[in-house]
Amino acid sequence: MSFIRSKRLFSATICFLLSFFLCSCANPSAKTMQTATLFAMDTVMELQIMGDETLLTNAEEMIRNLEKKLSVTDPQSEIAVLNSTGKNTLSEDTFSLTQNALSLCRRTDGALDITIYPVLKAWGFTTGQYRVPTQEEIDLLIKNVDFSQVELDEESKACSIPENMQLDLGSVAKGYTSRTIASYFTENGVKSGLINLGGNVQCIGSKPGGTPWKIAIKSPYPDSQSGIYGVLEATDTAIITSGGYERYFEENGETYWHIIDPKTGKPSHNDLLSVTIVGNDGLLCDALSTALFVKGLEGAIDEYKNSNDFDMILITTKGDVYITQGIRDNFLLSSEYYNASIHTIEK
Ligand code: ADP
Ligand code: MG
Repeated sequence: MSFIRSKRLFSATICFLLSFFLCSCANPSAKTMQTATLFAMDTVMELQIMGDETLLTNAEEMIRNLEKKLSVTDPQSEIAVLNSTGKNTLSEDTFSLTQNALSLCRRTDGALDITIYPVLKAWGFTTGQYRVPTQEEIDLLIKNVDFSQVELDEESKACSIPENMQLDLGSVAKGYTSRTIASYFTENGVKSGLINLGGNVQCIGSKPGGTPWKIAIKSPYPDSQSGIYGVLEATDTAIITSGGYERYFEENGETYWHIIDPKTGKPSHNDLLSVTIVGNDGLLCDALSTALFVKGLEGAIDEYKNSNDFDMILITTKGDVYITQGIRDNFLLSSEYYNASIHTIEK
């Protein structure tokens, strides 16, 4: 019998923001913090801004529009039509996200592969009807996993894929969404705000009053009491986490989670339990959080040493934590994990 636990619904509450209801009561003429909670992209989302409430209403509509375009399970979406017919003319959003995602698949040597969908389906992660596919089934499906065969035409915005291939932008959709919403808010004068799409957080400026936002990093250990591994102080940045604990099932004592190693067609198992990427670009952070979770500790450190566009926090199966030098001083372990070994990764 399989034991199913999906903690996604709770992720927004657990990845909570330590100073949620700060408002500018001291000055009645100043704008107050406006907040909105919605459920979209299979995630509880929380938005808060110092700004006009209509910006939140518009952001919610933007999120729902993006979901309609990108959802792989909605048969009307641009991606679902592409998957069922092999070609589609994409909107500006979907085209640019696919194009960016493909370049991140290349950058991560295919640890991120947006054509993983048929394999993900075989494991039941798309429906919740979890099962362990046979090796024959995996071998057959994995032949069609190859992002380099996705064709895009810049001029016409057409996308085409070979027969039996299917696209899934689930690894990058929320990062793209938080990036889009953050730009929308800042373009409309928001100087302080927070976008929390489950484990995907993007903060605008600092908290009202000028101190940094405090973002909780979830504990990936199932026996955690508090659910919180540590807290990161952040200003004007995206903080995006991928971990096996987000969505998984257990069968015969084995745990299988929703991040698949495209090389094996099986849930990626290595020395990492969670990867948090911190950087300016939400899309990049989302892509790398998934890809570096697949790559493991050594691969993640290599990627960091060869790049200059992100920082990261890696929590390992052994109970250690690795933090890159750029954010080391901004991270505090929670009292539950105060004695974990912290390793600083330098360039
Ligand atoms: P979450 O969506 O839970 O925040 P991620 O950003 O890590 O987490 O994305 C996981 C999703 O990405 C999976 O649910 C699946 O749709 C897709 N996926 C799983 N493995 C890969 C992979 N190796 N490359 C690209 N997409 C993947
Ligand atoms: Mg991701």
